Amino acid sequence: MEKVLFLAHTDSAGALPKAALEVLGGAMELAKGLSGAPLTVGLVGGDLKAAADSIAGCGAESFLAVGGDEFAVSRYATDAAAAEALVRKSEATLVIVPATSRFSRTMPGVAQRVDGRIDTHVTGFEIGPGSPQIERWYYRQRMVARLSRQQRPWFTLVDSGVFDAVDGLSGSAALESVTVDVPATRTRVVGEEAATAEAQTIRPDAQLLFVAGAGWTKKQADGQSHLPEAEQLILDFLGGSQASLGSSKSLVDQSGEGQDVLSFMSHMNQVGQTGSTPRHPKGLATCCHGEEPHVVGWRFIKERRAVNLDPGCGWAQGKADVLYVADAFQVMAKVNELLGG
Ligand SMILES: Cc1cc2nc3c(=O)[nH]c(=O)nc-3n(C[C@H](O)[C@H](O)[C@H](O)COP(=O)(O)OP(=O)(O)OC[C@H]3O[C@@H](n4cnc5c(N)ncnc54)[C@H](O)[C@@H]3O)c2cc1C
Repeated sequence: MEKVLFLAHTDSAGALPKAALEVLGGAMELAKGLSGAPLTVGLVGGDLKAAADSIAGCGAESFLAVGGDEFAVSRYATDAAAAEALVRKSEATLVIVPATSRFSRTMPGVAQRVDGRIDTHVTGFEIGPGSPQIERWYYRQRMVARLSRQQRPWFTLVDSGVFDAVDGLSGSAALESVTVDVPATRTRVVGEEAATAEAQTIRPDAQLLFVAGAGWTKKQADGQSHLPEAEQLILDFLGGSQASLGSSKSLVDQSGEGQDVLSFMSHMNQVGQTGSTPRHPKGLATCCHGEEPHVVGWRFIKERRAVNLDPGCGWAQGKADVLYVADAFQVMAKVNELLGG
């Protein structure tokens, strides 16, 4: 019989990150689908009682914890030692892990230590004939595959945005502490420095993806480009809506070509075949043509709208739910006004 281990770390406030609450929902479904395979929760962090209590009702048979100051911070050596101990203690065959940056860099090494196998960017689970299967996308999200593995333990790093975050499971969890000898470390974590809210334009949890295309920098009807105005309109909208900022490749490539660019835009914002594939409930593309290599990055955006002067642009070819044939400068000025300035 399979044994499922849900493995997560806490955030700096001692709580489980949203990605972990989502993936816990997936682990619970998986355990249920496997004829009630036993589910164990394994937690890594500082003081883990509050985090365990927040998911006490998830149906886990046991809550294992590697806690303490040394394990509160993100550091490969301590995280790998903690995760290895939890996997061994639980005797898990399936290890389900949220793909946070902290555990994404740790789990491949842990899988190696316990002679397991690992799959990354997992987007779902299925119960195949006699064995669990994972869902995973290939070729820049164009093809979806289901696969299973014989090797155990089988680690899966599950992407965020796939499952709904669990809620209403709080209670009192009986936390069993697993002792780990703190390994020799060279890395001392002195603190965390986050980008300021203004500088942070990529917001994975945002309700809306706002994409800016190269049209924002092009000559407009008056024969002039209006870059400062474009920057202000986009920044005002991001401030008012808290949307996440995406870009077309053409726009972010302009910096390398020495052209005028939007100062806050980098290749990190690029959406598409050679960019990212974000997951937001809604997306709005502006001054972006909607060519296939760009739109393929919209695979997981559920509701799509675009503003373009060209009624024959790519968005009109079945790629958007709604296309507003309009001047994005005027549209966004009006939207910003409606958002309150
Ligand atoms: C191998 C390969 C990989 C690629 N990978 C990616 C990728 O990952 N991501 C990506 O984005 N692209 C990618 N591309 C490039 C892609 O094919 C397009 O060239 C690119 O997406 C075009 O960017 P754009 O729509 O911003 O610019 P443009 O094609 O220049 O379109 C600008 C649009 O702005 C509109 N516009 C101008 N002014 C206004 C206005 N005032 N109001 C409203 N609309 C206006 C115009 O009508 C036009 O449609 C890739 C290409 C290749 C070959």
